Amino acid sequence: SKGIRLDKYLKEMRVATRSEAHMLIRDGHVEVNGNVAKQARQSIDPNHDTVLVGGQRVVYQRYFYFLLNKPVAVVTATTDKAAQTVMDLFNKADYRDDLFPVGRLDKDTTGALLITNNGELGHRLTNPKHHVTKVYQAIVTGTLTEDDVAQVAAGVMLKDGTVLKPADMKLGAYDSVLDQTTIQLTLTEGKYHQVKRMIGSFGQRVVRLERLSFGPLKLSTGLLPGHYRALSEDEVNALK
Ligand code: URA
Repeated sequence: SKGIRLDKYLKEMRVATRSEAHMLIRDGHVEVNGNVAKQARQSIDPNHDTVLVGGQRVVYQRYFYFLLNKPVAVVTATTDKAAQTVMDLFNKADYRDDLFPVGRLDKDTTGALLITNNGELGHRLTNPKHHVTKVYQAIVTGTLTEDDVAQVAAGVMLKDGTVLKPADMKLGAYDSVLDQTTIQLTLTEGKYHQVKRMIGSFGQRVVRLERLSFGPLKLSTGLLPGHYRALSEDEVNALK
């Protein structure tokens, strides 16, 4: 596998800044395979070399995975001229410039969003051929009918002729004061504005949209909007 400069290795593992890494090496605090490292530019093979700083092992991690509970008013992008992005929610210790959101939630949609620097996995999960199950909870205007549920199960045809894959819709509570219904939708594809357009085809409008899960990744009540957590090893394996 490809080597990585020792100073970069320490920087990427958040042990030190680049200049701090140079000082650590100069002062003899860094060992590679049992020998005191002399050169910051020494090439490290993360799979085979053992790096110690102050006697402590620094294990290399190539890929990082986070589940973010996306809040409203934040865009699913890595950069934006005007709006806050999902990457702006990361603190310095977790932020890396190769992290990116997998798929997209609208600016006004909240909920489960995978953030990783594993490009291969990210692209595979967003490939239309790959069917990640996504569960949404929505509040929609008015009421929907059992006919609408049956249409969703058969595959809705949108106004532009797009035919959606069969999906599951559960009708929840109706609020007669606000004239709104809570629904839960389970989709296996991710077309542009899919939920909003699907509900639009029934003559109703989405008032509030939250993604409860993305594949095996489920939002828990403890993960507040705007917050994120690292995935467990089991969750990472379940994604693959
Ligand atoms: N469907 C939508 O319309 N918007 C989202 O953000 C996600 C699914």
